[in-house]
Amino acid sequence: MMYSSRRKPVLYFRDDRSFLSRKCTVWKLCGLCMLFVLGSLLWVQLTCSGDMSQTVGHGHLPHQPCPTERHASSADDPSWGPHKMALIVPFRERFEELLIFVPYMHAFLNKKKIRHQIFILNQLDHFRFNRASLINVGFLESGNDTDYIAMHDVDLLPQNEDLDYGFPNEGPFHVASPDLHPLYHYKTYVGGILLLTKKHYQLCNGMSNRFWGWGREDDEFFRRLKTADLKLFRPVGITTGTKTFRHIHDPGWRKRDQKRIAAQKQEQFKVDPEGGLTNLRYKVESRQEVTISGAPCTVINTFLECDISLTPWCQPS
Ligand code: UDP
Ligand code: MN
Repeated sequence: MMYSSRRKPVLYFRDDRSFLSRKCTVWKLCGLCMLFVLGSLLWVQLTCSGDMSQTVGHGHLPHQPCPTERHASSADDPSWGPHKMALIVPFRERFEELLIFVPYMHAFLNKKKIRHQIFILNQLDHFRFNRASLINVGFLESGNDTDYIAMHDVDLLPQNEDLDYGFPNEGPFHVASPDLHPLYHYKTYVGGILLLTKKHYQLCNGMSNRFWGWGREDDEFFRRLKTADLKLFRPVGITTGTKTFRHIHDPGWRKRDQKRIAAQKQEQFKVDPEGGLTNLRYKVESRQEVTISGAPCTVINTFLECDISLTPWCQPS
């Protein structure tokens, strides 16, 4: 009994030690957890925060979607509907507008639950700017997982969330309609932002490739819509008038190329019944997956080709 009673403190001491060592383990576990959390945060930071760093062929880590992106794309959420839009932006030297446009549109469309991929058609050749041909290239390069297009100027930002960017099943939908556009108010205007199903765009044979320099390609496209017997739709019930869009274009700095050489003066008002997707000539120099402030877009660097005997006005003077 004496022996065993003397052992008690020992036992007690051993108990106490095991108590202390349990305490130790709890602290160790806490420490390990903290390390794990810090490590995870560091990993997320390293793999998804690098804006403008996700260019092809630069040996970066494969792109991991950030938690916010995962949430935003909601790929499996049926409330986003079955359709996906290719947002086609004809582009050259509007870098500061692009930096605003891509994050703005990505957020705007996500909020409206519009599945989308933004394509920037960057014209690399040294011919005059050709908005219509770039849209044709965008259509052909936009892949099979998109079933409608929005041809969209880089400098027009929709300000009203009631604007419809959904699948234009019934016919082409002119979002930037003449009563809402800040600058252009004529009845047959279809420029700025126009939505079409891929089927309808194909039916028009796309846009004419004859328009180099500013303007008229959209007016010619209006005539194609009529020829293809497509009914044009425009927004209804939008009460924000010409404040519906913000036009982030400084025309003093970004001058419109309105030169008309002799032959072009007559040509610009003609319809082009033959040309379009079927006679488009171009080369894709490269594709780059880019994120701008967390918003993904695909830059398609494009060389347009010009038959100088047919459209000599493609050359800058
Ligand atoms: N654009 C471009 N670079 C140019 C000219 C035009 O990127 O040098 C693209 C851009 O998307 C722009 C659209 O073509 O929003 C229409 O051109 P612009 O803004 O000059 O025409 P507006 O509608 O203002 O008359
Ligand atoms: Mn503009």
